[in-house]
Amino acid sequence: MNSLVDSFGREHTYLRISVTDKCNLRCFYCMPKEGIVWKRREELLEFEEIFRIAKVFVERGIDKIRLTGGEPLMRRDLPSLARMLKSLGGLKTLAMTTNATLLADYADELKAAGVSHLNISIDSLDRMRFKELTGRDDLKRVVDGIEAARRAGFASIKLNVVAIAGVNEDEILDFVDQFKNTEMNVRFIEFMPFRDNEWQIDRVLTYKEMRDKIEQRFELVPLAAEPSSVAKDFALKGYTGTVSFVTSMSESFCSTCNRLRLTADGSIKSCLFFPAEINIKDRVRSGATDQEIAEMISYALLRKPEAHPPAEEIAAQQNRTMIEIGG
Ligand code: SF4
Repeated sequence: MNSLVDSFGREHTYLRISVTDKCNLRCFYCMPKEGIVWKRREELLEFEEIFRIAKVFVERGIDKIRLTGGEPLMRRDLPSLARMLKSLGGLKTLAMTTNATLLADYADELKAAGVSHLNISIDSLDRMRFKELTGRDDLKRVVDGIEAARRAGFASIKLNVVAIAGVNEDEILDFVDQFKNTEMNVRFIEFMPFRDNEWQIDRVLTYKEMRDKIEQRFELVPLAAEPSSVAKDFALKGYTGTVSFVTSMSESFCSTCNRLRLTADGSIKSCLFFPAEINIKDRVRSGATDQEIAEMISYALLRKPEAHPPAEEIAAQQNRTMIEIGG
């Protein structure tokens, strides 16, 4: 039975675990230009601590875990954490979000360790623009990583494209064209406000604007989605590829939210845009029992807001930067 129910009756089945605040790219919508103060090694949860906390979550209803960062593959020996988590009875899906720059070296090992669902962040197919957006000339490594993931045979590969007006909106159709004959899903994500990420309302390319652009050339056929899915999914008529939209700014999906987050430094975040969080690392390190960990999770759930505030209000909040949450 799922006991991870908040005060609005939402059952939580999906835990996103950030394993590091470090990344080898510098995407402006995620990492502030002036950088962040990296967490010291000892401030990060150890794999054994992550496993223990995840076990408490899974025993109470979590059946999907996603590993995030920063860039999760920056954390040494990540496949061993995947193996540990995959051993949890009750866990149905082990997923990961990565920028794929290191994926070519890890794809097979991650698949063998139990990771089945990959989301790969890629915001441009143009080498120079990729370099401009990420601060690194690494498009080739990302493309190699995507190919390695396809060869490894993951159950699902989604390409996450943060669509930003005046930045990469002219590539929306390029992405659809490039991947329309593949088994992969291209997911266009509305630009979200995080601390110091240069967000402005007029830089948000809305779901409607993106869909209108794509429907100039393609017929989109709606696909059924999980009730708590964050994406609106579509088949491309006549092709094998699919397209999706994550519309948190123009059409929020908070009413069916099933997500909780564990930060790399051991805090529970009940909501992506809610600054309040519960630090459980110190309690775990001072001998908290599983029951006490469960009580802290329930406390975080009780305080979870019904929905995120309007975008401008989010932009004004003192929340963590995106890289410190892991999306
Ligand atoms: S903003 Fe918060 S409540 Fe809304 S979908 Fe995201 S995590 Fe859930």
